[in-house]
Amino acid sequence: MTLLPFPELTDPGNTDPSVDHAIQAIVGGASTDATCSTDLAEGPWTFDSRPGYGPGSSMGDVIPTGSPRQGELPVEYREADEADLDARIRAAKATLGDRVVVLGHFYQREEVVQHADYVGDSFQLANAALDRPEAEAIVFCGVHFMAETADLLSRPEQSVILPNLAAGCSMADMADIDQVEDCWEQLADVLGPLDVADDSGRMPVIPVTYMNSSAAIKGFVGRHGGIVCTSSNAETVLEWAFERGHRVLFFPDQHLGRNTAKAMGVALEQMPMWNPRRPLGGSSAEQIVDSRVILWHGFCSVHRRFTVGQIEQARAEHPGVRVIVHPECPMEVVDAADEAGSTDYIRRAIDAATEPTTFAIGTEINLVRRLAAQYPQHEIFCLDPVVCPCSTMYRIHPGYLAWVLEELVAGRVVNQISVAAGVATPARVALERMLAAKPRA
Ligand code: SF4
Repeated sequence: MTLLPFPELTDPGNTDPSVDHAIQAIVGGASTDATCSTDLAEGPWTFDSRPGYGPGSSMGDVIPTGSPRQGELPVEYREADEADLDARIRAAKATLGDRVVVLGHFYQREEVVQHADYVGDSFQLANAALDRPEAEAIVFCGVHFMAETADLLSRPEQSVILPNLAAGCSMADMADIDQVEDCWEQLADVLGPLDVADDSGRMPVIPVTYMNSSAAIKGFVGRHGGIVCTSSNAETVLEWAFERGHRVLFFPDQHLGRNTAKAMGVALEQMPMWNPRRPLGGSSAEQIVDSRVILWHGFCSVHRRFTVGQIEQARAEHPGVRVIVHPECPMEVVDAADEAGSTDYIRRAIDAATEPTTFAIGTEINLVRRLAAQYPQHEIFCLDPVVCPCSTMYRIHPGYLAWVLEELVAGRVVNQISVAAGVATPARVALERMLAAKPRA
């Protein structure tokens, strides 16, 4: 896999890609734009001990009890200004040299991404860690499931560090392992033994989990003949699953599952939803028997913000606009867009445009603003006019990055993410199946 670096932000005509600066300007009255929460202007440590995911797109979601919480960040990092933290991070990285690799997700805030050795989506970043076997520590500036995946794929001697333990993912948290085990038992009551193939050699159900899920879910999938997918390879993975099973149990993101299966010709009536709080997920036994894809009731609160009305407005105000949305958006939004694709697809589509083009993008605001700054020959804007970043990505502030790096300089590993061996072994099996799954020739 090739990780394409972003073009340098050297053009003085570029706009400021910082979402933090945009929010500070809104809250300070220097901008008339809107934000979904003025609390976003505060330091994330303000929310570390409060219930919930914190301000941003996941504010309305229910955080599971027992989700990791961040301990108090030392005051020197909370009180340092942007320039101080920038200098401290650079100094710590210079001291550590090849002993550390810093990974930055596309949705991460600009003040953190600029220190990343690699920038990409979750799977690109997990692979990037493989390119740096000499690094003793992998500092993953993303969310919890991403750090877990990096731990699964890295060498045992390497420590994976998540700078703020409160950086979970509300979508990943919507598929709890106990609920998934319960679902599996209920499906067996309707469909018979689930780990036994019929005369055609196919299983009753193949579990497929999106990369955006906990290691426990990936381990479940690995134990039951299933596979992991990303937003880039979901169709290839579903083809793999349909060759081996009569139907698929897809989690946690209903929208990626529905959009992908619909594009492959699966009828909507054959995609019942599984709501874990209802018997048989809220479907009848007949609907389960007739199903092709059972969709877990999960979603991303960032991508749920995009609407058909926003697309209509973009088309009215910008004739000829090219609308690209992420497949985590609801089906009607994907249907109304010109194209749908992963974060890497969006970035490559903009990079490949040879003529000045207006792009309306349906994905997280940090990536959209960065792309707008890096490709000033195009007009690029976010479909959602409200500045509302992913709540949990936003928890990784430069203060936490400076803290974990300076702790490493002092010989201490803090905030290590480590997947237990009993989970890691089957989870790696599910990931290896994904890597081996090939598109049809
Ligand atoms: S953007 Fe959505 S899927 Fe990605 S980390 Fe945030 S809540 Fe999770």
